Amino acid sequence: MAGSVGLLQIWGLCIWGVRTSWRTESDGDFYCPGCGGDRGYRRRAGTRKLTVVGVPLMARGSAGSVIECAACRTRYGLEALERPTTTRFSAMLRDAAYTVALAVLVAGGATSRHTREVATAAVREAGFTDCTQEQLLAMLTALSTTADAVPDRGLGDAIDGCGSWLSIELHEVLEPLAEHLAPQGCERILLQGARIALADGPYRPAERDALAAVGRCLRMSTEATECVLEAAARVLP
Ligand SMILES: [Zn+2]
Repeated sequence: MAGSVGLLQIWGLCIWGVRTSWRTESDGDFYCPGCGGDRGYRRRAGTRKLTVVGVPLMARGSAGSVIECAACRTRYGLEALERPTTTRFSAMLRDAAYTVALAVLVAGGATSRHTREVATAAVREAGFTDCTQEQLLAMLTALSTTADAVPDRGLGDAIDGCGSWLSIELHEVLEPLAEHLAPQGCERILLQGARIALADGPYRPAERDALAAVGRCLRMSTEATECVLEAAARVLP
């Protein structure tokens, strides 16, 4: 594919110009703002060439790379790939709900059947539709036997109110998501964690620590996090 970006005309005749030729470097899926959905893309690199009477003669440098939507042919800068596809975004939300539920359960309340029910419902609602209490318990058991487990806690070093592995997971799962979530979306994730923590009574200190870590990973201010936690505590028993 080529297109002229500069021309010199003498007596109505195109003598020379610069034409850009494109070659495909790679392809994949992305979210096309033009189409408004997940689409295939081609990453294309451009090379400028000097032409004389329409004939390309010599390269005049790179024209950079673009992302071209396979459906609408609209071209974007490479930053278009930074936005997750709808499918990827749904998976990120699902993983966030799961990790937050585990972190809050580890911080306290895992022995309460009602707490596990609330946690399971939150994980199912987020997309793991076949998640069961037994699966959550199995995961908690697996966490208790990780290499960094501390015998008297059985759930790993307490960092951010939960085990060290979960603390790392919170950061790895929530921080990339926070870049693409509106404040209301961040508050919703935190609120789900608060509901799990409150299912068996007021917040335990470790649960508050875990939820504060969730807020930080979601790039919420301390005040905004406290506001959500207090609001949840006022509504729920
Ligand atoms: Zn498109």
